[in-house]
Amino acid sequence: MQLTSMVDYDNVDGVAVLTLDNPPVNALSQGVRQGLPEVNLGLLPGAGGTQRLPRVVGVEKALQMVTSGAPISAAEALEAGLVDRLVEGDLREDALAFARGIIARDEPLPRIRDRDDKLQAARDNPAVFEQFRRGIARKTRGFLAPEYNIRCIEAAVSQPFDEGMKTESKLFRELLQGPQSAAQQYFFFAERQAAKIPDVDRDTPEIPIVAVGVIGAGTMGGGIAMNMANVGIPVTIVETSQEALDRGLGVIRRNYENTASKGRISAADVEQRMDLISGSLQLQDLANCDLVIEAVFENMEVKKAIFGRLDAIVKPGAIMASNTSALDLNEIAAATARPEAVIGLHFFSPANVMKLLEVVRGDATAKAVIKTCMAFARRIKKVPVLVGVCHGFVGNRILFVRQAQAHQLALEGAPPHEVDRVLYEFGFPMGAFQMSDLAGLDIGWNKETSRGETIRDRLCEAGRRGQKTGAGFYDYDENRKPTPAPMVTELFAEFAARAGITQRAISDEEILERCVLPMINEGAKILAEGIAVRASDIDVVYVYGYGWPVYRGGPMHYANSLGPDKVLQRLRHYQELTGDDFWQPSQYLVELAEQGGRFS
Ligand code: NAD
Repeated sequence: MQLTSMVDYDNVDGVAVLTLDNPPVNALSQGVRQGLPEVNLGLLPGAGGTQRLPRVVGVEKALQMVTSGAPISAAEALEAGLVDRLVEGDLREDALAFARGIIARDEPLPRIRDRDDKLQAARDNPAVFEQFRRGIARKTRGFLAPEYNIRCIEAAVSQPFDEGMKTESKLFRELLQGPQSAAQQYFFFAERQAAKIPDVDRDTPEIPIVAVGVIGAGTMGGGIAMNMANVGIPVTIVETSQEALDRGLGVIRRNYENTASKGRISAADVEQRMDLISGSLQLQDLANCDLVIEAVFENMEVKKAIFGRLDAIVKPGAIMASNTSALDLNEIAAATARPEAVIGLHFFSPANVMKLLEVVRGDATAKAVIKTCMAFARRIKKVPVLVGVCHGFVGNRILFVRQAQAHQLALEGAPPHEVDRVLYEFGFPMGAFQMSDLAGLDIGWNKETSRGETIRDRLCEAGRRGQKTGAGFYDYDENRKPTPAPMVTELFAEFAARAGITQRAISDEEILERCVLPMINEGAKILAEGIAVRASDIDVVYVYGYGWPVYRGGPMHYANSLGPDKVLQRLRHYQELTGDDFWQPSQYLVELAEQGGRFS
Protein backbone atom coordinates (compact mmCIF):
# COMPACT_ATOMS: atom_id res chain seq x y z
CA MET A 1 0.00 0.00 0.00
CA GLN A 2 1.27 3.45 -0.89
CA LEU A 3 1.96 5.72 2.00
CA THR A 4 0.25 8.65 0.33
CA SER A 5 -2.97 6.78 -0.15
CA MET A 6 -3.63 6.37 3.52
CA VAL A 7 -1.77 9.13 5.28
CA ASP A 8 -3.06 12.62 5.84
CA TYR A 9 0.01 14.65 6.55
CA ASP A 10 -0.40 17.74 8.62
CA ASN A 11 2.28 19.86 10.20
CA VAL A 12 1.12 22.48 12.65
CA ASP A 13 3.70 24.34 14.72
CA GLY A 14 6.09 21.44 14.95
CA VAL A 15 3.49 18.75 15.49
CA ALA A 16 3.36 16.11 12.83
CA VAL A 17 0.07 14.31 12.92
CA LEU A 18 -0.05 11.30 10.68
CA THR A 19 -3.63 10.29 10.53
CA LEU A 20 -3.86 6.62 9.70
CA ASP A 21 -7.53 5.78 9.68
CA ASN A 22 -8.62 6.01 13.26
CA PRO A 23 -6.77 6.49 15.63
CA PRO A 24 -4.37 9.27 14.83
CA VAL A 25 -0.80 8.16 15.16
CA ASN A 26 1.26 11.05 16.40
CA ALA A 27 4.90 11.90 16.07
CA LEU A 28 5.75 14.96 18.10
CA SER A 29 8.73 17.31 18.21
CA GLN A 30 10.48 17.70 21.54
CA GLY A 31 9.47 20.97 23.17
CA VAL A 32 5.92 20.94 21.82
CA ARG A 33 3.16 20.95 24.40
CA GLN A 34 -0.21 19.27 24.12
CA GLY A 35 -3.41 19.98 25.94
CA LEU A 36 -7.16 20.30 25.80
CA PRO A 37 -7.87 23.95 26.64
CA GLU A 38 -11.64 23.89 25.98
CA VAL A 39 -12.49 24.11 29.67
CA ASN A 40 -10.97 27.59 29.73
CA LEU A 41 -13.66 28.66 27.30
CA GLY A 42 -16.39 27.06 29.38
CA LEU A 43 -16.55 24.01 27.10
CA LEU A 44 -15.40 20.41 26.85
CA PRO A 45 -13.40 18.72 24.10
CA GLY A 46 -16.33 17.48 22.03
CA ALA A 47 -15.99 15.33 18.93
CA GLY A 48 -14.91 12.43 21.12
CA GLY A 49 -12.07 14.10 23.02
CA THR A 50 -13.45 13.12 26.40
CA GLN A 51 -14.17 9.57 25.25
CA ARG A 52 -10.83 8.86 23.60
CA LEU A 53 -8.48 10.63 25.99
CA PRO A 54 -9.11 8.42 29.06
CA ARG A 55 -8.77 5.33 26.86
CA VAL A 56 -5.32 6.56 25.85
CA VAL A 57 -3.90 8.16 28.99
CA GLY A 58 -6.02 6.68 31.77
CA VAL A 59 -8.81 8.23 33.78
CA GLU A 60 -6.87 10.26 36.33
CA LYS A 61 -4.60 11.90 33.79
CA ALA A 62 -7.57 12.59 31.54
CA LEU A 63 -9.47 14.19 34.42
CA GLN A 64 -6.53 16.46 35.16
CA MET A 65 -6.10 17.45 31.54
CA VAL A 66 -9.70 18.23 30.70
CA THR A 67 -10.54 20.06 33.92
CA SER A 68 -7.40 22.19 34.06
CA GLY A 69 -6.94 22.84 30.35
CA ALA A 70 -3.22 22.97 31.14
CA PRO A 71 -0.92 21.61 28.43
CA ILE A 72 1.58 18.85 29.19
CA SER A 73 5.12 18.56 27.90
CA ALA A 74 6.08 16.31 25.00
CA ALA A 75 7.93 13.98 27.38
CA GLU A 76 4.85 13.72 29.61
CA ALA A 77 2.64 13.13 26.58
CA LEU A 78 4.91 10.29 25.49
CA GLU A 79 4.89 8.74 28.94
CA ALA A 80 1.11 9.02 29.17
CA GLY A 81 0.72 7.35 25.78
CA LEU A 82 -0.77 10.44 24.17
CA VAL A 83 1.88 10.41 21.46
CA ASP A 84 3.66 7.46 19.94
CA ARG A 85 7.04 8.89 19.18
CA LEU A 86 9.16 11.95 19.98
CA VAL A 87 11.11 13.11 16.99
CA GLU A 88 14.55 14.55 17.50
CA GLY A 89 15.79 15.33 14.01
CA ASP A 90 13.84 16.45 10.98
CA LEU A 91 10.21 16.31 12.00
CA ARG A 92 8.82 15.60 8.54
CA GLU A 93 11.38 12.96 7.60
CA ASP A 94 11.32 11.19 10.95
CA ALA A 95 7.54 11.27 11.11
CA LEU A 96 7.28 9.78 7.63
CA ALA A 97 9.83 7.09 8.48
CA PHE A 98 7.81 6.28 11.58
CA ALA A 99 4.64 5.99 9.51
CA ARG A 100 6.36 3.84 6.90
CA GLY A 101 7.52 1.54 9.69
CA ILE A 102 3.94 1.08 10.85
CA ILE A 103 2.75 0.38 7.33
CA ALA A 104 5.56 -2.09 6.72
CA ARG A 105 4.39 -4.14 9.70
CA ASP A 106 1.12 -4.54 7.86
CA GLU A 107 -0.87 -5.14 11.02
CA PRO A 108 -4.36 -3.82 11.70
CA LEU A 109 -4.22 -0.61 13.66
CA PRO A 110 -5.93 -0.82 17.01
CA ARG A 111 -8.74 1.73 17.28
CA ILE A 112 -8.87 3.88 20.39
CA ARG A 113 -12.59 3.31 20.74
CA ASP A 114 -11.93 -0.40 21.14
CA ARG A 115 -9.37 0.02 23.89
CA ASP A 116 -10.46 -0.09 27.46
CA ASP A 117 -7.45 -1.41 29.36
CA LYS A 118 -6.83 2.03 30.87
CA LEU A 119 -10.45 2.37 31.99
CA GLN A 120 -10.36 -0.70 34.17
CA ALA A 121 -8.76 0.94 37.21
CA ALA A 122 -11.61 3.47 37.42
CA ARG A 123 -14.22 0.73 36.88
CA ASP A 124 -12.75 -1.09 39.87
CA ASN A 125 -12.68 2.10 41.91
CA PRO A 126 -15.46 4.49 40.88
CA ALA A 127 -14.71 6.60 43.99
CA VAL A 128 -11.90 8.11 41.95
CA PHE A 129 -14.37 10.62 40.52
CA GLU A 130 -15.64 11.89 43.87
CA GLN A 131 -12.07 12.16 45.14
CA PHE A 132 -11.09 14.14 42.10
CA ARG A 133 -14.11 16.44 42.47
CA ARG A 134 -13.20 17.15 46.08
CA GLY A 135 -9.62 17.91 45.07
CA ILE A 136 -10.55 20.62 42.59
CA ALA A 137 -13.70 21.91 44.32
CA ARG A 138 -12.16 25.10 45.67
CA LYS A 139 -10.46 26.05 42.45
CA THR A 140 -13.44 25.39 40.23
CA ARG A 141 -16.20 26.69 42.50
CA GLY A 142 -19.03 28.10 40.41
CA PHE A 143 -17.72 26.84 37.06
CA LEU A 144 -19.90 24.40 35.13
CA ALA A 145 -17.41 23.19 32.54
CA PRO A 146 -15.04 21.25 34.85
CA GLU A 147 -17.98 19.27 36.24
CA TYR A 148 -19.33 18.55 32.76
CA ASN A 149 -15.89 17.38 31.67
CA ILE A 150 -15.80 15.01 34.65
CA ARG A 151 -19.25 13.64 33.78
CA CYS A 152 -18.05 12.90 30.26
CA ILE A 153 -15.06 10.95 31.53
CA GLU A 154 -17.40 9.10 33.88
CA ALA A 155 -19.49 8.24 30.82
CA ALA A 156 -16.39 6.96 29.04
CA VAL A 157 -15.91 4.55 31.94
CA SER A 158 -19.49 3.49 32.54
CA GLN A 159 -21.00 3.52 29.04
CA PRO A 160 -20.14 1.83 25.74
CA PHE A 161 -18.20 4.11 23.39
CA ASP A 162 -21.16 5.10 21.21
CA GLU A 163 -23.31 5.92 24.25
CA GLY A 164 -20.45 7.90 25.75
CA MET A 165 -20.23 9.89 22.54
CA LYS A 166 -23.92 10.73 22.82
CA THR A 167 -23.52 11.82 26.44
CA GLU A 168 -20.56 13.97 25.48
CA SER A 169 -22.43 15.59 22.64
CA LYS A 170 -25.45 16.37 24.85
CA LEU A 171 -23.30 17.92 27.59
CA PHE A 172 -21.26 19.84 25.03
CA ARG A 173 -24.41 21.39 23.57
CA GLU A 174 -25.62 22.38 27.02
CA LEU A 175 -22.36 24.16 27.75
CA LEU A 176 -22.22 25.78 24.33
CA GLN A 177 -25.70 27.21 24.69
CA GLY A 178 -25.24 28.28 28.31
CA PRO A 179 -24.24 31.68 29.70
CA GLN A 180 -20.91 30.56 31.18
CA SER A 181 -19.22 29.56 27.95
CA ALA A 182 -20.56 32.72 26.31
CA ALA A 183 -18.98 34.76 29.12
CA GLN A 184 -15.69 32.88 29.01
CA GLN A 185 -15.40 33.13 25.25
CA TYR A 186 -16.27 36.82 25.42
CA PHE A 187 -13.58 37.27 28.04
CA PHE A 188 -10.97 35.45 25.95
CA PHE A 189 -11.36 38.13 23.28
CA ALA A 190 -11.77 40.95 25.81
CA GLU A 191 -8.32 40.21 27.18
CA ARG A 192 -6.74 40.37 23.73
CA GLN A 193 -8.71 43.46 22.79
CA ALA A 194 -7.37 45.32 25.84
CA ALA A 195 -3.93 45.36 24.25
CA LYS A 196 -5.21 47.58 21.41
CA ILE A 197 -5.13 51.32 21.91
CA PRO A 198 -6.89 53.29 19.19
CA ASP A 199 -4.42 56.17 18.90
CA VAL A 200 -1.23 54.22 19.59
CA ASP A 201 -0.39 52.38 16.40
CA ARG A 202 2.30 50.05 15.12
CA ASP A 203 4.52 52.94 14.04
CA THR A 204 4.74 54.34 17.55
CA PRO A 205 8.31 53.66 18.70
CA GLU A 206 9.04 51.56 21.77
CA ILE A 207 11.63 52.53 24.37
CA PRO A 208 14.03 49.67 25.21
CA ILE A 209 13.81 48.73 28.91
CA VAL A 210 17.00 47.16 30.21
CA ALA A 211 17.32 48.34 33.80
CA VAL A 212 14.49 49.15 36.18
CA GLY A 213 14.36 51.10 39.45
CA VAL A 214 11.78 50.83 42.22
CA ILE A 215 11.36 53.44 44.95
CA GLY A 216 10.09 52.02 48.24
CA ALA A 217 10.63 48.45 49.48
CA GLY A 218 7.29 48.13 51.27
CA THR A 219 4.37 45.83 50.50
CA MET A 220 4.12 46.93 46.89
CA GLY A 221 7.70 47.91 46.02
CA GLY A 222 9.04 44.48 47.01
CA GLY A 223 6.41 42.63 44.97
CA ILE A 224 6.96 44.92 41.99
CA ALA A 225 10.72 44.29 42.08
CA MET A 226 10.10 40.52 42.13
CA ASN A 227 8.26 40.80 38.81
CA MET A 228 11.42 42.09 37.17
CA ALA A 229 13.76 39.56 38.77
CA ASN A 230 11.38 36.74 37.80
CA VAL A 231 12.00 37.45 34.12
CA GLY A 232 15.69 38.31 34.38
CA ILE A 233 15.52 42.11 34.44
CA PRO A 234 17.96 43.78 36.86
CA VAL A 235 16.24 46.05 39.37
CA THR A 236 17.47 48.55 41.94
CA ILE A 237 15.28 49.30 44.96
CA VAL A 238 15.77 52.59 46.79
CA GLU A 239 14.68 53.10 50.39
CA THR A 240 15.10 55.84 52.96
CA SER A 241 16.81 53.77 55.64
CA GLN A 242 19.00 50.68 55.79
CA GLU A 243 16.51 49.12 58.17
CA ALA A 244 13.59 49.52 55.76
CA LEU A 245 15.72 48.28 52.89
CA ASP A 246 16.88 45.20 54.78
CA ARG A 247 13.34 44.45 55.84
CA GLY A 248 12.07 44.76 52.26
CA LEU A 249 14.84 42.61 50.79
CA GLY A 250 14.30 40.07 53.60
CA VAL A 251 10.61 39.77 52.68
CA ILE A 252 11.51 39.21 49.03
CA ARG A 253 13.98 36.47 49.93
CA ARG A 254 11.46 34.76 52.20
CA ASN A 255 8.86 34.87 49.43
CA TYR A 256 11.26 33.21 47.02
CA GLU A 257 12.34 30.64 49.59
CA ASN A 258 8.71 29.83 50.25
CA THR A 259 8.13 29.25 46.55
CA ALA A 260 11.26 27.08 46.42
CA SER A 261 10.07 25.03 49.41
CA LYS A 262 6.94 24.19 47.42
CA GLY A 263 9.16 22.99 44.58
CA ARG A 264 8.01 25.67 42.14
CA ILE A 265 11.49 27.15 41.70
CA SER A 266 14.94 25.78 42.59
CA ALA A 267 17.33 27.02 45.27
CA ALA A 268 19.56 28.24 42.43
CA ASP A 269 16.64 30.26 41.05
CA VAL A 270 16.25 31.97 44.42
CA GLU A 271 19.89 33.10 44.34
CA GLN A 272 19.76 34.05 40.68
CA ARG A 273 16.72 36.24 41.27
CA MET A 274 18.10 37.81 44.44
CA ASP A 275 21.29 38.62 42.51
CA LEU A 276 19.24 40.65 40.06
CA ILE A 277 17.87 42.82 42.89
CA SER A 278 20.15 45.44 44.39
CA GLY A 279 19.31 47.81 47.21
CA SER A 280 20.34 51.42 47.63
CA LEU A 281 19.69 54.45 49.82
CA GLN A 282 20.47 56.91 47.00
CA LEU A 283 17.97 58.01 44.34
CA GLN A 284 21.08 58.91 42.36
CA ASP A 285 21.63 55.18 41.77
CA LEU A 286 18.61 55.20 39.47
CA ALA A 287 20.31 57.57 37.00
CA ASN A 288 20.78 54.87 34.36
CA CYS A 289 17.42 53.14 34.70
CA ASP A 290 15.12 53.07 31.69
CA LEU A 291 12.05 52.79 33.88
CA VAL A 292 11.58 53.86 37.49
CA ILE A 293 8.46 52.81 39.43
CA GLU A 294 7.64 54.78 42.56
CA ALA A 295 5.87 52.82 45.34
CA VAL A 296 6.16 55.01 48.46
CA PHE A 297 3.38 56.09 50.84
CA GLU A 298 0.10 57.19 49.27
CA ASN A 299 0.73 60.87 49.93
CA MET A 300 0.65 63.53 47.23
CA GLU A 301 3.31 65.76 48.78
CA VAL A 302 5.72 62.85 49.26
CA LYS A 303 5.17 61.66 45.70
CA LYS A 304 5.57 65.12 44.19
CA ALA A 305 8.83 65.64 46.06
CA ILE A 306 10.16 62.32 44.77
CA PHE A 307 9.17 62.99 41.17
CA GLY A 308 10.78 66.45 41.33
CA ARG A 309 14.04 64.90 42.51
CA LEU A 310 13.82 62.00 40.10
CA ASP A 311 13.39 64.39 37.18
CA ALA A 312 16.81 65.85 37.95
CA ILE A 313 18.41 62.42 38.15
CA VAL A 314 17.10 60.00 35.50
CA LYS A 315 18.50 60.03 31.98
CA PRO A 316 16.63 61.61 29.05
CA GLY A 317 14.09 59.16 27.60
CA ALA A 318 13.60 57.30 30.88
CA ILE A 319 10.04 56.53 31.99
CA MET A 320 8.91 57.66 35.43
CA ALA A 321 5.96 55.66 36.77
CA SER A 322 3.86 55.87 39.91
CA ASN A 323 2.08 52.98 41.58
CA THR A 324 -0.44 55.31 43.18
CA SER A 325 -3.83 53.68 43.88
CA ALA A 326 -5.95 56.76 43.45
CA LEU A 327 -3.99 60.03 43.40
CA ASP A 328 -4.10 62.51 40.50
CA LEU A 329 -1.34 61.40 38.14
CA ASN A 330 -1.40 64.73 36.31
CA GLU A 331 -0.50 66.55 39.51
CA ILE A 332 2.38 64.14 40.10
CA ALA A 333 3.55 64.61 36.48
CA ALA A 334 3.43 68.40 36.91
CA ALA A 335 6.14 68.10 39.56
CA THR A 336 8.54 67.25 36.72
CA ALA A 337 9.70 69.19 33.67
CA ARG A 338 8.82 66.17 31.48
CA PRO A 339 5.22 65.14 32.16
CA GLU A 340 5.26 63.24 28.87
CA ALA A 341 7.61 60.71 30.53
CA VAL A 342 5.26 60.14 33.49
CA ILE A 343 2.73 57.31 33.62
CA GLY A 344 0.84 55.32 36.23
CA LEU A 345 1.64 51.63 36.64
CA HIS A 346 -0.94 50.47 39.15
CA PHE A 347 -0.02 47.02 40.39
CA PHE A 348 -2.39 45.02 42.58
CA SER A 349 -1.52 43.36 45.85
CA PRO A 350 0.30 40.97 46.09
CA ALA A 351 2.15 42.59 43.19
CA ASN A 352 4.17 39.49 42.37
CA VAL A 353 0.99 37.42 42.04
CA MET A 354 -1.87 39.52 40.70
CA LYS A 355 -2.10 39.53 36.90
CA LEU A 356 -3.68 42.93 36.40
CA LEU A 357 -1.73 46.10 35.68
CA GLU A 358 -3.68 49.33 35.25
CA VAL A 359 -1.58 51.52 32.96
CA VAL A 360 -2.64 55.07 33.78
CA ARG A 361 -2.42 57.58 30.98
CA GLY A 362 -1.89 61.16 32.11
CA ASP A 363 -2.93 64.17 30.02
CA ALA A 364 0.63 64.57 28.76
CA THR A 365 1.86 60.94 28.70
CA ALA A 366 3.67 60.29 25.40
CA LYS A 367 2.34 57.55 23.13
CA ALA A 368 5.77 55.89 23.06
CA VAL A 369 5.66 55.70 26.85
CA ILE A 370 2.21 54.09 26.75
CA LYS A 371 3.22 51.61 24.08
CA THR A 372 6.40 50.71 25.95
CA CYS A 373 4.57 50.15 29.23
CA MET A 374 1.85 48.02 27.63
CA ALA A 375 4.55 45.81 26.05
CA PHE A 376 6.65 45.82 29.21
CA ALA A 377 3.65 44.63 31.23
CA ARG A 378 3.39 41.55 29.04
CA ARG A 379 7.12 40.96 29.40
CA ILE A 380 6.66 40.73 33.17
CA LYS A 381 3.61 38.48 32.57
CA LYS A 382 0.92 40.96 33.50
CA VAL A 383 -2.32 41.76 31.73
CA PRO A 384 -2.23 45.52 31.09
CA VAL A 385 -5.33 47.67 30.72
CA LEU A 386 -5.03 51.33 29.77
CA VAL A 387 -7.07 53.68 31.96
CA GLY A 388 -7.39 57.43 32.37
CA VAL A 389 -6.91 59.67 35.37
CA CYS A 390 -9.71 59.93 37.95
CA HIS A 391 -9.99 59.11 41.63
CA GLY A 392 -9.28 55.38 41.90
CA PHE A 393 -8.91 54.90 38.12
CA VAL A 394 -11.18 52.10 36.85
CA GLY A 395 -10.80 49.33 39.42
CA ASN A 396 -10.82 51.15 42.73
CA ARG A 397 -13.36 53.74 41.58
CA ILE A 398 -15.84 50.94 40.89
CA LEU A 399 -14.86 49.17 44.10
CA PHE A 400 -15.57 52.30 46.18
CA VAL A 401 -19.27 52.27 45.22
CA ARG A 402 -19.64 48.59 46.01
CA GLN A 403 -17.94 48.99 49.38
CA ALA A 404 -20.09 52.02 50.19
CA GLN A 405 -23.26 50.04 49.44
CA ALA A 406 -22.07 47.02 51.44
CA HIS A 407 -21.61 49.36 54.40
CA GLN A 408 -25.02 50.93 53.86
CA LEU A 409 -26.65 47.49 53.71
CA ALA A 410 -25.05 46.59 57.04
CA LEU A 411 -26.41 49.80 58.54
CA GLU A 412 -29.86 48.97 57.24
CA GLY A 413 -29.79 45.56 58.88
CA ALA A 414 -27.93 43.01 56.71
CA PRO A 415 -25.11 41.66 58.92
CA PRO A 416 -21.67 42.00 57.26
CA HIS A 417 -21.22 38.23 57.03
CA GLU A 418 -24.55 37.96 55.18
CA VAL A 419 -23.49 40.63 52.68
CA ASP A 420 -20.22 38.76 52.22
CA ARG A 421 -21.98 35.42 51.80
CA VAL A 422 -24.11 36.78 48.96
CA LEU A 423 -21.04 38.19 47.18
CA TYR A 424 -19.17 34.92 47.69
CA GLU A 425 -22.08 32.92 46.30
CA PHE A 426 -22.15 35.22 43.28
CA GLY A 427 -18.60 34.05 42.67
CA PHE A 428 -16.26 36.62 44.23
CA PRO A 429 -13.40 34.98 46.15
CA MET A 430 -14.42 37.00 49.22
CA GLY A 431 -16.99 39.55 50.27
CA ALA A 432 -16.69 43.29 50.82
CA PHE A 433 -15.96 43.15 54.55
CA GLN A 434 -13.50 40.28 54.27
CA MET A 435 -11.70 42.28 51.61
CA SER A 436 -11.48 45.32 53.89
CA ASP A 437 -10.13 43.13 56.68
CA LEU A 438 -7.52 41.69 54.33
CA ALA A 439 -6.36 45.11 53.12
CA GLY A 440 -6.29 46.49 56.69
CA LEU A 441 -8.89 48.88 58.13
CA ASP A 442 -6.20 51.36 59.13
CA ILE A 443 -5.17 52.33 55.57
CA GLY A 444 -5.54 56.08 55.64
CA TRP A 445 -6.72 56.00 59.29
CA ASN A 446 -4.97 58.24 61.77
CA LYS A 447 -4.80 57.33 65.43
CA GLU A 448 -4.10 60.91 66.48
CA THR A 449 -7.14 62.41 64.80
CA SER A 450 -9.54 59.47 65.23
CA ARG A 451 -12.60 60.47 67.28
CA GLY A 452 -14.82 57.41 67.01
CA GLU A 453 -17.01 59.15 64.47
CA THR A 454 -17.19 56.26 62.03
CA ILE A 455 -17.50 52.52 62.37
CA ARG A 456 -13.99 52.23 61.00
CA ASP A 457 -12.68 54.62 63.67
CA ARG A 458 -14.33 52.59 66.38
CA LEU A 459 -12.94 49.30 65.08
CA CYS A 460 -9.41 50.64 64.68
CA GLU A 461 -9.51 52.34 68.07
CA ALA A 462 -10.48 48.96 69.56
CA GLY A 463 -7.40 47.42 67.92
CA ARG A 464 -9.56 45.66 65.32
CA ARG A 465 -7.55 46.70 62.28
CA GLY A 466 -8.20 43.68 60.11
CA GLN A 467 -6.81 40.21 59.58
CA LYS A 468 -3.30 41.24 60.58
CA THR A 469 -4.48 42.10 64.13
CA GLY A 470 -6.68 39.00 64.41
CA ALA A 471 -9.87 41.06 64.28
CA GLY A 472 -11.66 43.58 62.12
CA PHE A 473 -15.18 43.18 60.79
CA TYR A 474 -14.65 39.52 61.69
CA ASP A 475 -12.82 37.66 64.45
CA TYR A 476 -9.96 35.52 63.11
CA ASP A 477 -8.41 32.39 64.57
CA GLU A 478 -4.72 31.50 64.26
CA ASN A 479 -5.35 30.10 60.77
CA ARG A 480 -7.00 33.34 59.74
CA LYS A 481 -10.38 31.65 59.54
CA PRO A 482 -13.07 34.31 60.02
CA THR A 483 -16.11 34.07 62.29
CA PRO A 484 -18.80 36.77 62.44
CA ALA A 485 -18.21 39.19 65.31
CA PRO A 486 -21.37 40.05 67.33
CA MET A 487 -19.80 43.35 68.43
CA VAL A 488 -19.62 44.45 64.78
CA THR A 489 -23.31 43.75 64.17
CA GLU A 490 -24.07 45.69 67.37
CA LEU A 491 -21.85 48.54 66.24
CA PHE A 492 -23.78 48.82 62.98
CA ALA A 493 -27.06 48.75 64.95
CA GLU A 494 -25.78 51.54 67.19
CA PHE A 495 -24.75 53.73 64.23
CA ALA A 496 -28.05 52.96 62.48
CA ALA A 497 -30.06 54.07 65.52
CA ARG A 498 -28.02 57.24 65.71
CA ALA A 499 -28.73 57.97 62.04
CA GLY A 500 -32.45 57.26 62.50
CA ILE A 501 -32.33 54.13 60.34
CA THR A 502 -34.76 51.36 61.30
CA GLN A 503 -32.98 48.09 60.64
CA ARG A 504 -34.86 45.41 58.70
CA ALA A 505 -34.34 41.99 57.16
CA ILE A 506 -32.85 42.35 53.67
CA SER A 507 -33.19 39.66 51.01
CA ASP A 508 -30.22 38.11 49.20
CA GLU A 509 -31.55 39.48 45.95
CA GLU A 510 -31.53 43.04 47.28
CA ILE A 511 -28.04 42.61 48.72
CA LEU A 512 -26.72 41.40 45.39
CA GLU A 513 -28.43 44.08 43.33
CA ARG A 514 -27.37 46.87 45.65
CA CYS A 515 -23.73 45.72 45.53
CA VAL A 516 -23.48 44.96 41.83
CA LEU A 517 -25.74 47.45 40.04
CA PRO A 518 -23.80 50.50 41.31
CA MET A 519 -20.65 48.91 39.89
CA ILE A 520 -22.28 48.74 36.46
CA ASN A 521 -23.54 52.32 36.80
CA GLU A 522 -20.05 53.53 37.73
CA GLY A 523 -18.65 51.56 34.78
CA ALA A 524 -21.09 53.40 32.50
CA LYS A 525 -19.90 56.76 33.90
CA ILE A 526 -16.28 55.70 33.37
CA LEU A 527 -17.05 54.89 29.73
CA ALA A 528 -18.86 58.17 29.18
CA GLU A 529 -15.87 60.04 30.59
CA GLY A 530 -13.44 58.10 28.39
CA ILE A 531 -11.54 56.78 31.43
CA ALA A 532 -11.68 53.28 29.92
CA VAL A 533 -11.18 52.70 26.20
CA ARG A 534 -14.01 50.15 25.95
CA ALA A 535 -16.51 48.30 28.14
CA SER A 536 -14.61 45.03 27.89
CA ASP A 537 -11.50 46.68 29.38
CA ILE A 538 -13.48 47.28 32.57
CA ASP A 539 -14.30 43.58 32.62
CA VAL A 540 -10.64 42.64 32.23
CA VAL A 541 -9.81 44.91 35.19
CA TYR A 542 -12.51 43.26 37.27
CA VAL A 543 -11.71 39.64 36.48
CA TYR A 544 -7.94 39.97 36.88
CA GLY A 545 -7.82 42.59 39.62
CA TYR A 546 -10.85 41.93 41.83
CA GLY A 547 -11.83 38.30 41.35
CA TRP A 548 -15.05 38.92 39.43
CA PRO A 549 -15.98 35.37 38.33
CA VAL A 550 -14.89 34.98 34.72
CA TYR A 551 -17.94 32.79 34.06
CA ARG A 552 -19.96 35.97 34.49
CA GLY A 553 -17.68 37.85 32.10
CA GLY A 554 -17.17 41.03 34.15
CA PRO A 555 -19.56 43.78 35.29
CA MET A 556 -20.24 45.18 31.83
CA HIS A 557 -20.80 41.78 30.23
CA TYR A 558 -23.04 40.94 33.17
CA ALA A 559 -24.98 44.16 32.52
CA ASN A 560 -25.44 43.06 28.92
CA SER A 561 -26.65 39.65 30.02
CA LEU A 562 -29.21 41.27 32.36
CA GLY A 563 -30.05 43.86 29.71
CA PRO A 564 -29.10 47.53 30.18
CA ASP A 565 -32.82 48.42 30.30
CA LYS A 566 -33.33 46.08 33.26
CA VAL A 567 -30.25 47.54 34.98
CA LEU A 568 -31.68 51.03 34.50
CA GLN A 569 -35.08 50.00 35.81
CA ARG A 570 -33.55 48.50 38.98
CA LEU A 571 -31.31 51.54 39.58
CA ARG A 572 -34.42 53.73 39.39
CA HIS A 573 -36.21 51.38 41.76
CA TYR A 574 -33.49 51.81 44.39
CA GLN A 575 -33.35 55.54 43.76
CA GLU A 576 -37.05 55.71 44.59
CA LEU A 577 -36.73 53.34 47.54
CA THR A 578 -33.86 55.21 49.18
CA GLY A 579 -34.28 58.73 47.82
CA ASP A 580 -30.51 58.74 47.55
CA ASP A 581 -28.65 60.45 44.67
CA PHE A 582 -26.14 57.63 44.87
CA TRP A 583 -28.55 55.74 42.61
CA GLN A 584 -28.77 58.40 39.88
CA PRO A 585 -28.31 56.41 36.65
CA SER A 586 -25.52 57.46 34.33
CA GLN A 587 -26.81 59.38 31.31
CA TYR A 588 -24.84 57.00 29.13
CA LEU A 589 -26.76 54.04 30.56
CA VAL A 590 -30.07 55.86 30.12
CA GLU A 591 -29.34 56.47 26.44
CA LEU A 592 -28.10 52.95 25.90
CA ALA A 593 -31.21 51.49 27.52
CA GLU A 594 -33.51 53.76 25.51
CA GLN A 595 -31.85 52.69 22.26
CA GLY A 596 -32.03 49.03 23.26
CA GLY A 597 -28.22 48.93 22.98
CA ARG A 598 -25.53 47.00 24.78
CA PHE A 599 -22.20 47.99 26.33
CA SER A 600 -19.47 47.41 23.76
P1 NAD B 1 4.21 50.59 52.38
O1 NAD B 1 3.99 51.51 53.50
O2 NAD B 1 4.18 49.13 52.61
O3 NAD B 1 5.61 50.92 51.70
C1 NAD B 1 6.05 52.19 51.39
C2 NAD B 1 7.56 52.18 51.48
O4 NAD B 1 8.07 53.38 50.90
C3 NAD B 1 8.10 52.12 52.90
O5 NAD B 1 8.97 51.03 53.02
C4 NAD B 1 8.83 53.45 53.06
O6 NAD B 1 9.99 53.34 53.88
C5 NAD B 1 9.19 53.77 51.65
N1 NAD B 1 9.44 55.19 51.40
C6 NAD B 1 8.74 56.25 51.86
N2 NAD B 1 9.27 57.41 51.39
C7 NAD B 1 10.33 57.07 50.62
C8 NAD B 1 11.28 57.80 49.87
N3 NAD B 1 11.26 59.11 49.85
N4 NAD B 1 12.22 57.11 49.21
C9 NAD B 1 12.26 55.77 49.25
N5 NAD B 1 11.37 55.02 49.95
C10 NAD B 1 10.43 55.66 50.63
O7 NAD B 1 3.15 51.01 51.27
P2 NAD B 1 2.56 50.12 50.08
O8 NAD B 1 1.35 49.41 50.56
O9 NAD B 1 3.67 49.37 49.47
O10 NAD B 1 2.04 51.24 49.08
C11 NAD B 1 2.93 51.93 48.23
C12 NAD B 1 2.15 52.60 47.13
O11 NAD B 1 1.46 51.60 46.40
C13 NAD B 1 1.08 53.58 47.58
O12 NAD B 1 1.01 54.64 46.68
C14 NAD B 1 -0.18 52.75 47.57
O13 NAD B 1 -1.34 53.52 47.41
C15 NAD B 1 0.08 51.91 46.35
N6 NAD B 1 -0.68 50.66 46.30
C16 NAD B 1 -0.83 49.89 47.41
C17 NAD B 1 -1.53 48.70 47.33
C18 NAD B 1 -1.69 47.81 48.53
O14 NAD B 1 -2.57 46.96 48.53
N7 NAD B 1 -0.87 47.94 49.55
C19 NAD B 1 -2.07 48.30 46.11
C20 NAD B 1 -1.88 49.09 44.98
C21 NAD B 1 -1.18 50.28 45.09
